Amino acid sequence: MKILKFGGSSVANAENINKVIQIVMQSPKRRNDIVVVSAFGGVTDDLIRIATLASKGENNYRLLFKKLCKKHDEVIKKLIKALRAGRQAKNKKQALKEAKKKYDELEKILQGIFLIKELSLRSLDTVMSFGEQLSAQIIGEAINSRGVACKFVDARNLIKTDDNFGSANVDALKTHKLISNYFKKSSMLSIMGGFIASNSSGIVTTLGRGGSDYSASLIGAALNAAVIEIWTDVDGVMTADPRRVEEAFPLEEISYEEAGELAHFGAKVIHPKTMKPAR
Ligand code: ASP
Ligand code: MG
Repeated sequence: MKILKFGGSSVANAENINKVIQIVMQSPKRRNDIVVVSAFGGVTDDLIRIATLASKGENNYRLLFKKLCKKHDEVIKKLIKALRAGRQAKNKKQALKEAKKKYDELEKILQGIFLIKELSLRSLDTVMSFGEQLSAQIIGEAINSRGVACKFVDARNLIKTDDNFGSANVDALKTHKLISNYFKKSSMLSIMGGFIASNSSGIVTTLGRGGSDYSASLIGAALNAAVIEIWTDVDGVMTADPRRVEEAFPLEEISYEEAGELAHFGAKVIHPKTMKPAR
C-alpha cells in the first residue's frame, strides 16, 4: 500500500485536482491506498484572514467568507460535471450538500468570534480545520463520481495530540493504535485531510503550518506502508530554493537525516516533523 499526499498547490483548482485524481486512479493497488490532501491552495491563509477580521468586529469578514464558500462550490461544479443523470448528478448534489453543512457550521463559529471579539489559538485551529475538512470531502466525492469507490476518513478521529493549539504534539502511541485499528477493517481507497487532529477531549487541533506532510507520514508509519509519496509542484528535493537559486537542481537521493535537517533549517519542501515517523 501507498500513502499519496497532495499539497495545497496540487489541489489549488479543479484543473489541478483532476490531475491528482488521474494519479490516484492510476495507482496499481489503489484499493489499499490512502490519499492525504491539504486545503485548496490559499484557503488556510484565507481562513486565518477571515477569522482575524471577525475577531476585530469587522463586518466584511462575511464577504470573504462568502467568497471562500463560492470558491469551493465552483470547484465542485467543475470537478463533477453531472453530464448525465444518475451517478454523477447524485455525487454532485451530495458534495454540494456536504459542503453546505460545513459552511453553516463555520459561519456559526465565525459569528461567535465576531460577537466575542476574541480569537484564541484554539478557535483558530477549529476555523483552519475547515480547509482540510472541505478539500478531503470534495475530492473524495469527485473520485467517487468517476466510478472509483473512495471512503472519506475524518483525520480528527485518528490523529491525537496534546493541547498545544497551533502546533500540537502528536501522541504517537494513541495515534498509531487508532490508525492501525481503523484501517485493519478497510479495503477501499481512502481519503483524509492532512494537518488536522484532535486532543484527548475531541477538540480540534492542528499540526502546524504545512503539517499535512506529517499527517501522511504518521499514517504511513502506523500502517507500515511501502511508500509515502509527497506530491508537490516542485520536482523533488532540490539543492536550494529554486525561486532564489537559478542553478538549483533536484537531488537524486537524500537520507532521512539530511531531509530532516533541510526541513529543520527552513526548507519549505517538507514539514520538519515528517521524517521521524517515515524513518
Ligand atoms: N493547509 C495547511 C497549511 O496551509 C497544511 C498543509 O497544507 O500542509 O499550512
Ligand atoms: Mg507543504
